[in-house]
Amino acid sequence: MATLDLRNITKSFGTAKVLHGIDLAVKDREFVVFVGPSGCGKSTLLRIIAGLEAATSGQILIDGQNVSDLPPVQRGIAMVFQSYALYPHLTVFENIAFPLRVAKLPEPEVKQKVGRAAEILKLTDKLMLKPGQLSGGQRQRVAIGRSIVRNPKVFLFDEPLSNLDAALRGDMRVELSQLQRELDATMIYVTHDQVEAMTMADRIVVLNAGRIEQFGSPMELYHHPATRFVATFIGQPN
Ligand code: ADP
Ligand code: MG
Repeated sequence: MATLDLRNITKSFGTAKVLHGIDLAVKDREFVVFVGPSGCGKSTLLRIIAGLEAATSGQILIDGQNVSDLPPVQRGIAMVFQSYALYPHLTVFENIAFPLRVAKLPEPEVKQKVGRAAEILKLTDKLMLKPGQLSGGQRQRVAIGRSIVRNPKVFLFDEPLSNLDAALRGDMRVELSQLQRELDATMIYVTHDQVEAMTMADRIVVLNAGRIEQFGSPMELYHHPATRFVATFIGQPN
């Protein structure tokens, strides 16, 4: 299980303040989507949670424990990169196994963990292929597989489907939702696509210019937008 708490996270790049005090409490096994226009700070916030970027101030707590000063690998958080981050010369097996090789796990454990990830992701019969021999959706699943093998408590996705065509995006939305149930994981998913947010989220964080405009269920946002920005962005006809 994993809860994720953000306490007054701020971030400045030089004199430019891009996050203005973000407070957020994500529940165990919740699927939370960060949505907002380009440049509003979604990726920066995600990278701060992952530990890839230092916050200017504020705290990150996982299961109540302050992880703000821990390096990325010790946070129990996996950032799923877009599928183009795969190694083209390695097999699917070795792409998924990569973090375990780095951690120098014994071969039987590597086989067991990769096998389990491949089962969940329906890649069992693809393990000996190279990424170039896979479809876009399968490649995305390999990228997810690479993060599953380390048993993270929290998964972070930064616009993982933006390179895929519309039909495949629809399939992958469904697959990701199923995957979350199978993994019993807490997931944060970043998108600038309102439809993706509305169809996938348990709760949605609407970000605008480094601030949270509203945090609520898709229905709450749709029927009770807190601000004009939310009403316009979520696209309620009025
Ligand atoms: P989003 O993912 O919502 O499109 P980002 O988090 O990438 O937004 O960017 C938020 C703001 O921070 C933007 O104005 C962007 O130009 C700025 N920014 C992001 N990363 C850096 C950086 N490394 N140095 C300077 N400014 C940055
Ligand atoms: Mg971004």
